[in-house]
Amino acid sequence: MILRSFTFYLLTLSTFLSSLGFAYEMDDQVGYVNPRKSHFQTERFQFNGTSDRLRKFSLVLKDLGVPPESSPNFSGFPLSQEVTRPDFEANLNILDPDAGLRRYLSVDDQGVSLFQDFFSHLLPEGFLEYGVDFLKSAPSTNTEALLAKLNQISKQVKNPAETQPLAGLKILIDPGHMGTPDWDTDTGKYVRIQNQKVSEGQLNLWTALLTANAFESLGATVYLTRTEDGAVSPLDPATFDTSPFFNQYFYNSLDAWMSPYLSLPDSSILGAVRNAPEAKKAYTPNQRTQFFITGADLEARSQLIDQVQPDIVIDIHYDANQSDQLQNQDNSIEAFVPGGFRKEETGSRYVRSLMFNHLLETRRFNASVDLAADMIQGMSQSLNLKLQNTAEFLTSIRVQDGVYARNLYISRRNTTSLMVYLECLHYDHASEFSRLAKNDLMGNYHGKSFAYPSRLQAVVDGIRTGFLHHFQK
Ligand SMILES: [Zn+2]
Repeated sequence: MILRSFTFYLLTLSTFLSSLGFAYEMDDQVGYVNPRKSHFQTERFQFNGTSDRLRKFSLVLKDLGVPPESSPNFSGFPLSQEVTRPDFEANLNILDPDAGLRRYLSVDDQGVSLFQDFFSHLLPEGFLEYGVDFLKSAPSTNTEALLAKLNQISKQVKNPAETQPLAGLKILIDPGHMGTPDWDTDTGKYVRIQNQKVSEGQLNLWTALLTANAFESLGATVYLTRTEDGAVSPLDPATFDTSPFFNQYFYNSLDAWMSPYLSLPDSSILGAVRNAPEAKKAYTPNQRTQFFITGADLEARSQLIDQVQPDIVIDIHYDANQSDQLQNQDNSIEAFVPGGFRKEETGSRYVRSLMFNHLLETRRFNASVDLAADMIQGMSQSLNLKLQNTAEFLTSIRVQDGVYARNLYISRRNTTSLMVYLECLHYDHASEFSRLAKNDLMGNYHGKSFAYPSRLQAVVDGIRTGFLHHFQK
């Protein structure tokens, strides 16, 4: 079954490759195109069994009524040599800090391959997902078209006579969360003190609208995932089909909570998993809401990114520790870029394929880091706030002060554009809360007016200044 879907993918790939005029090899013995043939010298594959942990995992999935996870789509991946081994390895400790994904990789001077299970020379060759050869001489050439476009924007920004310096640039802004009273309750993304309330979903929206205005007046084409309060997904949270998110929940569990159960004998494993609290949780009404918030709604935002194909995605968020209490310690700015893929997050084939894509696109990663660093620098000056600087923050890993690699749904899922996920300030900080609880200014976005707290002007000024500074360098 797995082999058949894999063969199907490779046939699709080989058709695609031949349509592009690339040479490809068909391995008669196993009947598929092997993009990394050097890993399949037969003497390395003496073991013809299957992976015992995946065998047990498939028993569990079948018992839970979850279909086997299908082969990921590798159509956007490099087809030929685009990245050198040194460039590939340069950011590996930030993208894959626990060497969790590396368990599934085979890396040598020739290239890198992704497998369906922890790679060892005993793994049957049918377990190959995808492989690509390294470029033998520097520099790497991946993300070439996008970087050329950004270079053109840089020339326009540096030209003092240019009145529309961002003309030709496509920016998608995603205001995080939803920002209505019901969704605030379900997401917990608000702070209420007595009769004053600040909703993060609303702050995100107003900041996004003001930022869109600023970028549009500089000539950019701006897309927003939402222009009002509410979910982005058009699905009804009460009736939508949860199965893709339910299934993904269990696929993801392979390297997390499911892992200890997979060492139990076959006779006890099914009962043990059925009674596991994490398995029971998947069937609860609360989890259904979570499948909507952290699944369907984030997927809808990601699909907009796929449709629009922006050059840059900016996610707007604000931070808080608790919903019902103010604090005076934490107030800082940070930006998340893709990466920080932790060891317990590598269970799903689909998720691993996205992680692998980010590992191969080293120049896109570096460009996101540079842009993020300049944007938060602008915000830090405008807001007079420090940058987050601990070595790790939540699950994220510091790339440099204020810039952290973190495995977030939209960032991981975005494998085509630069990605900067901003945490603008802490709205539960006492001094910020009092400023953010008053909507003392009126804004207007494409004819729609809205009231917002004047503090957001400093946020947007910082975003705009930092963004322009980036292209001026
Ligand atoms: Zn948020």
